[in-house]
Amino acid sequence: MTQFGITSVGHLQDHNLRRVLEAIMSRDGMTRQDLVETTGFSPAGISKLVGILIDKELVQEHNLVSRRRGRRAISLRINENCMYSLGVRFARNYVKVGIFNVMGRLLSSNYRSIEEQDLETTIETITDQIDDQMQAMDDEMRAKLMGIGISAPGPLFGTDGRIALISNAPGWRNVALAECIQERFGKPTFMEHDANVSALAEYWYGQGRNVRRLVYVVADRGVGAGFMLDGAIYGGMNNIAGEIGHTTIQFNGPKCDCGNYGCLEMYCSSLAFLRKAKWIAKEERPAGWPGPHRLTTDQVFELAVDGEPVAKHLVEESGRFLGIGVVNLINAFNPDMIVLGDEMARAGELLLQSVHSVVRERVIPEIAEETRIVLSQIIPEPAFAGTGSLVVKRVFESLSQVEDGPLVVSRTQV
Ligand SMILES: [Zn+2]
Repeated sequence: MTQFGITSVGHLQDHNLRRVLEAIMSRDGMTRQDLVETTGFSPAGISKLVGILIDKELVQEHNLVSRRRGRRAISLRINENCMYSLGVRFARNYVKVGIFNVMGRLLSSNYRSIEEQDLETTIETITDQIDDQMQAMDDEMRAKLMGIGISAPGPLFGTDGRIALISNAPGWRNVALAECIQERFGKPTFMEHDANVSALAEYWYGQGRNVRRLVYVVADRGVGAGFMLDGAIYGGMNNIAGEIGHTTIQFNGPKCDCGNYGCLEMYCSSLAFLRKAKWIAKEERPAGWPGPHRLTTDQVFELAVDGEPVAKHLVEESGRFLGIGVVNLINAFNPDMIVLGDEMARAGELLLQSVHSVVRERVIPEIAEETRIVLSQIIPEPAFAGTGSLVVKRVFESLSQVEDGPLVVSRTQV
């Protein structure tokens, strides 16, 4: 084996096909000449690789575009409906299941709350939802269904789809969810940490397209981060990398479920935010606030956007705690871009400004200036939108095994 892990002509060709496919995906209106410039392959090489991708019905010639010196060339695009995947977003309090095409477009979906359900009932709910979506597919779509992708709160162990632990959810320890779904539906099933799925979605479809070192921060009921390094998820030795929610920001703070003390997510998760908001609604009863019982994070965000000072202060405080997590990320990884997403990111600009101000205060000015920190804009949310790409990514990695003509894949191929 070489140092790059390329063991045969098949693998080398897969690697090259994947580069070409990803280049076509990364920008609209790519021509063969653009691909030569982007990938560094020869014109003959590109012509051959594009020919293979067209034969496999993954890529289509689109239309004539004007190039330099008045020359015209044919642009290429991904055949959007060459394959489908089922995506499952398994969150702490709900499950969404949807059908995605290869470009991450959501074609249909369903949603169920799993609030206060036990482990077995939750797994039943997920399989019912997958069943419903499969029923909704026509025969052609079902034949082109390449697999199932699951995003789950973590940490997850390795890549075998076992959930290591979900904080605030007793019972979810060492659960082989992906294996269970794969056995039930007979489709290749891949599970990833929701933060990694989100980073993948940002890299493939969002603001992080072509960004070499990308970090996605999940600011939800839990807090975590996903890393994309040169187009690949960086998971560390045990796929635990990015668990910033369980890094200490208060060394003598309260004990967390993970065993550590004063963890970041105890200060800026949406659970922590809502807990504090409810306490304020009950104890301080600020003017214009609803009562504590039915209070939601979105209501507090709306109050904050309208300028209500207590709500505004609460959002800014969360932004500052999150900002400390972001500062630690910058110092540890020096990424080009950090995308903030999920429930807390719905607080919008106000939260982002607080994060920015902490970063400006606490990071070396040159680095603070160069690191782009943005709010996610992917719809539906990246932890769901990216589930399909978990499957597509595996297909792209083994293209030489995909026969010409409409894609049909067997379990052993992925
Ligand atoms: Zn913790």
